[in-house]
Amino acid sequence: MSAPGAASGALPGAPWLERRGTELHLEGHALAPLARRFGTPLFVYSRGAMRAALASYQRALAGRRHLVCYAMKANSSLAVLQTFAEAGCGFDIVSGGELERVLAAGGSASKVVFSGVGKTRAEMRQALEAGTDGVRCFNVESVPELERLDAEARAVGRRARVSLRINPDVDARTHPYISTGLRDNKFGIAHAEALDAYRRAAALPGLQVVGIDCHIGSQITQVEPYLDALDRLLDLVDAVEAAGIALHHVDVGGGLGITYTDERPPDAAVLVSRLLERLDARGHGHREILFEPGRSLVGNAGVLLAEVQYLKPGEAKNFCIVDAAMNDLVRPAMYGAWMAIEPCTLRDTPPVRWDVVGPVCESGDWLGRDRDLALEPGDVLAVLSAGAYGMAMASNYNTRSRAAELMLDGDAVHLIREREPARGLFAHERLVPAPAGR
Ligand SMILES: *Cc1c(COP(=O)(O)O)cnc(C)c1O
Repeated sequence: MSAPGAASGALPGAPWLERRGTELHLEGHALAPLARRFGTPLFVYSRGAMRAALASYQRALAGRRHLVCYAMKANSSLAVLQTFAEAGCGFDIVSGGELERVLAAGGSASKVVFSGVGKTRAEMRQALEAGTDGVRCFNVESVPELERLDAEARAVGRRARVSLRINPDVDARTHPYISTGLRDNKFGIAHAEALDAYRRAAALPGLQVVGIDCHIGSQITQVEPYLDALDRLLDLVDAVEAAGIALHHVDVGGGLGITYTDERPPDAAVLVSRLLERLDARGHGHREILFEPGRSLVGNAGVLLAEVQYLKPGEAKNFCIVDAAMNDLVRPAMYGAWMAIEPCTLRDTPPVRWDVVGPVCESGDWLGRDRDLALEPGDVLAVLSAGAYGMAMASNYNTRSRAAELMLDGDAVHLIREREPARGLFAHERLVPAPAGR
């Protein structure tokens, strides 16, 4: 079954992704020739689309003290980070490895917020000592983490700037798609315990309280849950400041959705202006506001290209076997996610219904089910909206080299990641010594 709206309306990723005649183009480049030139599987990104997505947040925030921190777990390739760093963006990181990537891509530690429930001592040290004065802020998710961070900061003679990640517990019945802002998950500090946690933080000499944050979920397509979460945060801000603890910034997290099929999420500019209105209405308009968007900055800016290897018609199902697999793009296999699949070159023969699957030895290895496509072996398919949680979640399962990546920038085509050579996949492995006497 084709998704409603996918065939009729504009392609997800438009206007950067468009059909010109029979050929699918991204940022003005025909995709089929790129697949032939660089090989498949191949991720292709539009730099223009990434810049435009960021600008949508930044324009709506103009004139306000603000920082957009790209949640880089969505796509952490260096050239993607570089693109955002050059545009003044900060970064939301969740590991020491991500911090190294930011610095390698030319980003600044002073614009980094460090999220995550499991920060190790080593990662805290690394973040405290990065750049000239450490990362901008630690988004702390528990009281034990506060104590550990205090100890590590004092050990290196620094004060760690902290924000507490609050679990706002926004109503799950009204917002069933919210997954990380609820009482029963591992993220954040419960709203009811937050004031005590702030008192504890303020009493620790190695810490400096600077803000408050939340992150309520992902692929959110409405503004209301954000407004509810902001209200809950601002209630706390009032209580915390009444207790004599000053807060500088409010970080509303990420989670804005993109179009995979027929979703119609609000534009980032609309989300931002609705939140700013609410902030003003409640008398908090002077505060710096932070956002942590991931998917909405990169998701619709990329596609995954794969070549049709074999067509295998069957009695119950027809299988189209391509050279990309769950190790390249795990969202369908892991979440049952629906992602649009388009031929890079249209044929005028009648479409046939296919399951598009990869070569990995798992029946869960599929990219799309029941897709009506006119195909021949050798054709190139594009999986759309693959810029987020694609390459960043890729693995080497079945000892498959991870895909190459291209960045399109106006007329230019940049190879930003070479296909991994197979030898490199086991370069860090060791054979055990052979038994003596053989
Ligand atoms: C994953 C994550 C984000 C980004 O989520 P998206 O849905 O990709 O926008 C932001 N903040 C935190 C703390 C996250 O874990």
